[in-house]
Amino acid sequence: MKTYTFAVLPGDGIGPEVMEVALEVLKVTGEKFGFNLHYKNADIGGIAIDNHGLAFPDTTKAICEKSDAILFGSVGGPKWENLPPKEQPERAALLPIRKAFNLYANVRPGLLYPQLTDASPLKKERIPSGIDIVCIRELTGGIYFGQPKSTQTLPNGEEQAIDTMVYQTSEIERIAQVAIDTACARGGKVCSIDKANVLETSVLWRKVVTNYFKEHAPEIELSHMYVDNAAMQLARDPNQFDVLFTENMFGDILSDEMGVICGSLGMLASASLGANSNSLGHPFGLYEPSGGTAPDIAGMGIANPCAQILSAAMMLRYSFGEQEAASSIEKAVEVAVTSGTRTGDIAFGLESVDTASMGAAVLQSLA
Ligand code: NAD
Repeated sequence: MKTYTFAVLPGDGIGPEVMEVALEVLKVTGEKFGFNLHYKNADIGGIAIDNHGLAFPDTTKAICEKSDAILFGSVGGPKWENLPPKEQPERAALLPIRKAFNLYANVRPGLLYPQLTDASPLKKERIPSGIDIVCIRELTGGIYFGQPKSTQTLPNGEEQAIDTMVYQTSEIERIAQVAIDTACARGGKVCSIDKANVLETSVLWRKVVTNYFKEHAPEIELSHMYVDNAAMQLARDPNQFDVLFTENMFGDILSDEMGVICGSLGMLASASLGANSNSLGHPFGLYEPSGGTAPDIAGMGIANPCAQILSAAMMLRYSFGEQEAASSIEKAVEVAVTSGTRTGDIAFGLESVDTASMGAAVLQSLA
């Protein structure tokens, strides 16, 4: 029987609560589709600061290095908010782990079932059949990592800060390929987002993307849009997009906007794919819910586990090549939620269930 090895980093707040449910769903899926799952738990984020003095300890890194994928919860919370910004869990865990594993491609499905349109702030008539789009964000380049990056005091006493936005051809081409692969498995349409009317990096982005698609995927319908317009179009008519793809900072903002229009963070999964292949020949990746640690409900056993479960399904699809098993989990979540089992964040007048019961409903749909 095949065995897949992955690291489990539940993190803080609701992370461990929803992770427990996702692992149970993975176990049952493995039994159904004939594979074993071998995983090791490790600390990340606030709990790692408490236990090891560092948000991303070497022991955790070593466990990830021996794995074919990382299933991640979320990190942070009020307990660690008074640490210096560089030591706070999100910054001290997420950026280093992305860097350590060269996680350059963030894939975020924006999925809202028609039965959950109440969860969206958009008017129902704009999204009569829900939302089904994907945002691909470049994750290791651009203004978040470019050098120089500094703050200095000028001779006149003013402070000046500098960030640098930088991209090169190879970085743009590899993320373009992820957009192509994603679009091929969906509606065959890609909209590349930039600010080519102002930014040099965007002029290069648009040129490289146009040439790359022409050469490697002429069958894909490619369009371009300025980021300010894209922000408006997402709120006006999200389903005009199939696959949105863009650089790091624009993607940070647009993918959060996409999260808002799709309703609860408790339903939104994500994958961050690495440049290197794992031992199975698939991309190494980190899979996590789009939301944070939800300190307002942590410890109450009422968090929605679906985003974590759907992130686990993405891990099966991208890092283990188990398409059918992944689809079966996605379908089970859809059936459970649309047939009325809902945690509080997506209940809208229906009686809400707790985390464990939501998980049980997904398991029942899987059977
Ligand atoms: P959040 O996503 O944790 O919470 C925002 C709202 O969404 C809250 O009302 C919360 O209850 C709700 N929510 C989120 N996930 C839910 C779920 N699964 N089920 C039900 N409701 C859910 O964002 P925040 O409050 O801005 O941040 C809280 C902490 O999480 C902060 O410390 C922040 O730094 C951290 N954070 C971590 C990550 C990450 O680890 N990738 C991402 C975002 C925020």
